[in-house]
Amino acid sequence: MNFDFLQIPEAGEKITMSDGKLIVPSNPLIGLIIGDGIGPDISRVGQKVIDAAVKKAYTNQRKIVWCELPAGESALQQYDTILPEDTLTFLQNYLVAIKGPLTTPVGSGTRSLNVTLRQKLDLYSCVRPVKYFPGVPSPMVSPQKLDVIIFRENTEDLYMGIEWKEGTLAAQKIISFLKTEMGVTIRADSGVGIKPISKFATQRLVKSAIEYALKNNRRSLTLVHKGNIMKFTEGAFKEWGYEIAREYPELITEEELYHKYNGTVPAGKIILKDRIADSMFQQLLLRPEEYDLLVAPNLNGDYLSDACAAQVGGLGIAPGANINYESGHALFEATHGSAPKYTGMDKVNPGSFILSGVMMLDYLGWHEAAQLIVKSFSTIITQKTVTYDLARQMAGAKLLKCSEFGEAIINNMS
Ligand code: NAD
Repeated sequence: MNFDFLQIPEAGEKITMSDGKLIVPSNPLIGLIIGDGIGPDISRVGQKVIDAAVKKAYTNQRKIVWCELPAGESALQQYDTILPEDTLTFLQNYLVAIKGPLTTPVGSGTRSLNVTLRQKLDLYSCVRPVKYFPGVPSPMVSPQKLDVIIFRENTEDLYMGIEWKEGTLAAQKIISFLKTEMGVTIRADSGVGIKPISKFATQRLVKSAIEYALKNNRRSLTLVHKGNIMKFTEGAFKEWGYEIAREYPELITEEELYHKYNGTVPAGKIILKDRIADSMFQQLLLRPEEYDLLVAPNLNGDYLSDACAAQVGGLGIAPGANINYESGHALFEATHGSAPKYTGMDKVNPGSFILSGVMMLDYLGWHEAAQLIVKSFSTIITQKTVTYDLARQMAGAKLLKCSEFGEAIINNMS
């Protein structure tokens, strides 16, 4: 493994994968992409909080050794590319990293770096837990009823970006091919996109969601799709999902629940449901407590994650991870953008980065450190000591800067 400029800290050891299990040394090397815009503010605070939790949980027995990886706008200035080869090599070889938000230049033809990273590392599961922290201002009457984990497919669907602009030769060729070879007529002035959904990608996603559900004692798993309209992509997603689920005796369908078990879930069983995407949005507002783990194709999953995050009080604190459960590659990330207008103001909420760090600690198996952060985070929110985004919606709140919020979490760890 050769690096042009990256210095790998000698104090750290590599995380590896063996027989499908992540092997984590006590001093793991973990990649850190600081991010653009507000990225440096939230990442530095998050890094401190994570280090403090690890120190508190394990004294000097465990320690993360960070390796900073250039990417995004800042890398462009120094290395003339938004994704230096060294960064990619590190991510491919050292498995685990966490990142701040990266700016996507609008209309310049540059693809989103986030999408590129997910595809290059084949990070097929986008995992987003959405849970309410008491005290966070929410538009809902009972926001605590929502407690879901969304598994969104991350590598295909419309996000593959296979599309042709209206009026181009390529678009005309596709339109003409569809007409002459497939008997399908499309308006001549159309842009055209392609939506591939494969059995392979669907089943590995559903499999990882089922295994997550089993490991974490979840109650139900719901396949979310728009199969009534897009039968061979979204409809097939549902069928392939049911097919792989049949390999797990722990899962029962809703039909089995009512016809075989009289509506009472037998101990140790997980209910397998499916919902049409538009109805899913209604259900999450009207009966959130009936849903637990949601599995969706890329586009539906994207919409659902943001809608659910808004229900529990906003995107500033919604964490996320992109994981390939076979290879072990995992990239944890703040789910919001780089909010350029707040750059360098030490103002925004670092919660999304910090809670993504919690997901990372859980992924490493360092649950004690993860719990220290979650507990302290809940405490300071209940005490109404928060950043501007939450403070402006809470009566009697004490306004903290981004860095002060991090310090408050560290000081309240117990
Ligand atoms: P954004 O999420 O950056 O910001 C929208 C608004 O949300 C901000 O103006 C701010 O009011 C609020 N906000 C965001 N994060 C916050 C936080 N941590 N605390 C408090 N308030 C917060 O969305 P945008 O303006 O549409 O996108 C800006 C850039 O970020 C774009 O280049 C976009 O492509 C990129 N982006 C990156 C990611 C990622 O890296 N994962 C995700 C989304 C957008």
